[in-house]
Amino acid sequence: MYNFKDLIDIHTHSVGSRHAYSTVTENVMYAKTLGLKYYGLSDHAPAMPFTTAGSYFLNLNIIPRDWGEVTLLRGAECNILDPHGKIDLGFETLPRLDYALAAIHRNCMAPTTYDDHTSAYMNVIENPFVKVLAHPDDGRFPYDMEAVVRHAKEYGVLIEVNECSLKSNAYRPGAKENLTKLVKLCKEIKTPMILGSDAHFHLNVGEHKLGRKLLEDLDFPAELIVNFHEDMIREYFLKNLRP
Ligand SMILES: [Zn+2]
Ligand SMILES: [Zn+2]
Repeated sequence: MYNFKDLIDIHTHSVGSRHAYSTVTENVMYAKTLGLKYYGLSDHAPAMPFTTAGSYFLNLNIIPRDWGEVTLLRGAECNILDPHGKIDLGFETLPRLDYALAAIHRNCMAPTTYDDHTSAYMNVIENPFVKVLAHPDDGRFPYDMEAVVRHAKEYGVLIEVNECSLKSNAYRPGAKENLTKLVKLCKEIKTPMILGSDAHFHLNVGEHKLGRKLLEDLDFPAELIVNFHEDMIREYFLKNLRP
């Protein structure tokens, strides 16, 4: 059993994503009741149909950062669009955010070849605004996991342990098996990981129970789990905070 307190959830959605059902305030208040120190808002970027517009992210800085015991981080879940690792927020928006998650979603990029999926991840890792690969565990998008885990370590990009990937109703086929492989590779290569809830309702904010259990079962070293360490959170997410 890890004897560490969970300090952060970087993967959450608000009504801004339009298929999520709680406001930013409800999410933050719930994070407070859990005793989280950092709450990261990461609504879907605009390439996902029927979600946000680009202006949504340009205006995020009106939301206060300081909520008492909880600090809000302004992020986005960007969509990887092609094998070049292109994402759907650009250089006018990304510098205004604290971080970006990058993810492959079936409705923003169709599966093609193993090599294409591998280069999509390899290239997006080199984007300096991307801090986390979100749920890189979709069985419809096979790729060279070992090469990606090594590249992520080199560029300081975290691999997410996504709580939704481990639920019995997970919608990405093979997610649990692929996540298990990723945890083993990250352990071997010593690539840090981060637990993310992918909450689409406030009662799921900070929910990392299944992820934590998977990491424990595989004897993943606590010193590589960013959620547990203030100094690592600072290194990855708080270095260049805007006011
Ligand atoms: Zn996602
Ligand atoms: Zn998400």
